[in-house]
This record gives sequence, structure tokens and C-alpha cells, in this order.
Amino acid sequence: MAVMITEECINCDACAPECPVAAIMSDSDDKNPFEGSRYYVKPESCVECVSHADTPRCAEACPTEGSIVWDMPFTTDFEEYFTVGNENGTYKIREHKKKGLMMPSVKAQPFMEEIGMGVRESHSNVMDSF
Ligand code: SF4
Ligand code: SF4
Repeated sequence: MAVMITEECINCDACAPECPVAAIMSDSDDKNPFEGSRYYVKPESCVECVSHADTPRCAEACPTEGSIVWDMPFTTDFEEYFTVGNENGTYKIREHKKKGLMMPSVKAQPFMEEIGMGVRESHSNVMDSF
């Protein structure tokens, strides 16, 4: 990923229009694994705003502390992590007609290399890193 939206989300829609790669789904989207509950970041699409902004735009726009947190990079090092997450419903990775599930081994995404793995593993609030 990426960044992740938690149950703190109040479905205010401040984040989604800010995303440069349309990686955020609203709570009313039937492709959102948390449909009816909260917004969702597609890890297979999120680029952590690399090459777009110095800080994740969604987190800058979000009014709710703890709603947008760090997750692991969407790279082959974390293929298993996202595979398990997809199976247990934490994610709903897009299925491409020809390429199959869009896992990191099919297409990895950029990530902010300066953000440490400990911060990611503990799902720390994104804006606390800036
Ligand atoms: S970090 Fe950037 S690319 Fe990722 S969901 Fe937020 S706004 Fe979109
Ligand atoms: S801006 Fe924050 S609270 Fe609002 S929908 Fe996005 S994640 Fe949820």
C-alpha cells in the first residue's frame, strides 16, 4: 500500500477527491470491502503520493485523527502480507481479466522510502510522520 483507512473514518469524503490516482473508494462503493462502514484505500492503486506531493494528500485533507494510517509498501517483499489480507477481507484486490489478481508481483507501487517499517507495522497515524 500504502496507507490504510481505519474505523475512525466518519465518511466525510474530504480525502477521495484529493487522491491523484483515484485510489480511495467511498463507503457506498460495492467494491469496497468495508461497504456501508467506511472509506477504503485500494493498496494496488495507492502510490503514497510519490511524485505528486510531499505528504499523502488524503491524510492532509482528513479531519479525523487516526483515520488514515500507514500500511506496508505494495511491493513483492509484502506479497504474502497482501495475499493473506485479501483472503481475510482486509483488502479487496482488483482482479484483472487477463493478469489476474493485481498483487505486487503483477504490479508493485511506489512508496515513501523514508517511512520506517516499524511505523508501518504499527499502523501509525500518517500525519504524525510530518
Ligand atoms: S496516499 Fe496519495 S495516492 Fe495513496 S490514497 Fe492517499 S492521496 Fe491517494
Ligand atoms: S477524510 Fe478521513 S474521515 Fe473523511 S472519508 Fe476520508 S478517511 Fe474518512
